Amino acid sequence: MSRIVVTGGAGFIGSHLCERNLADGHEVVAIDNLLTGDIDNIAHLMGDPAFTFQQQDCTHYIHVSGPVDAIMHFASPASPVDYLELPIQTLKVGSLGTHNVLGLAKAKEARIVVASTSEVYGDPLVHPQTEDYWGNVNPIGPRGVYDEAKRFLEAITLAYHRTHGIETRIARIFNTYGPRMRMRDGRVVPNFMCQALRNESITVYGDGDQTRSFCYVSDLVEGMVRLLWSEETGPVNLGNPAEMTIMQFAEKIRDTVGSSAPIVHEELPVDDPRVRQPDISKARRVLDWEPVVPLETGLESTVAYFREKLAAGGELPG
Ligand code: UDP
Repeated sequence: MSRIVVTGGAGFIGSHLCERNLADGHEVVAIDNLLTGDIDNIAHLMGDPAFTFQQQDCTHYIHVSGPVDAIMHFASPASPVDYLELPIQTLKVGSLGTHNVLGLAKAKEARIVVASTSEVYGDPLVHPQTEDYWGNVNPIGPRGVYDEAKRFLEAITLAYHRTHGIETRIARIFNTYGPRMRMRDGRVVPNFMCQALRNESITVYGDGDQTRSFCYVSDLVEGMVRLLWSEETGPVNLGNPAEMTIMQFAEKIRDTVGSSAPIVHEELPVDDPRVRQPDISKARRVLDWEPVVPLETGLESTVAYFREKLAAGGELPG
């Protein structure tokens, strides 16, 4: 059994990783500054003697007492709306935060998996995206704060591997959804679901022809755990290759919710990628992994989560 640090442990994916590692019999130390994370996501784990929570900002020196066998570095704002509102924090956690976390890995002789992103491919000119594609990122656009922070994260992670021999792993995570996404984080899944549940207009940005590929959180977590314990040092795409247009996705959400809310078009954000679809051949080969949760099943459980949240806040139409 291992002792595992999860940074961003109170976030959407981080909290699911905490849960999964505890279920696998490990000890978990969750670190989060609660900037975009939420203590409610881990409240149910607080009584578990194998779980501890440290409210801490990774961009400052990180102290964890006792041994650490593995680190999962997930701290960062992750929604375009969040990183546009928090550009400096986003850059700092991807750079200074990753540096500190790698320092912790070195000091504790721990293996580490870091959360990179499909955003390292920017507005991709290769489709679907393979790990050997270097990307098409605008470094000075508003999204550049996230994209470049994560590109730096990959560079410093490999530098620590090459220089200090640390066991490092890099996951390039594509659009992931599921319970515990923040209702107001601005991403397409919470936006469309909450709009459909409230019977408000569904806001499709641009013409809705842009594509995304959505992976359910339990699939992502399975891939992440396999990657952590694998021997693969190079970046690995983790995502669901089932691609669709945002317009098709809006209709899918309306059907799932059983809503007749109208679809309206709003302005497309700057540098919004036109297409995105992971090539997961490498993950299939080195991790023997692929997503197994059908979109309909994942959407049902996510809608149930948002329905409950909205009902608790008195935000559903009577
Ligand atoms: N989007 C949309 N309406 C919304 C929120 C997002 O049409 O209310 C679009 C957005 O422009 C993008 C896609 O949905 O093309 C996915 O956006 P998200 O913010 O979830 O993440 P991204 O994939 O851009 O990182």
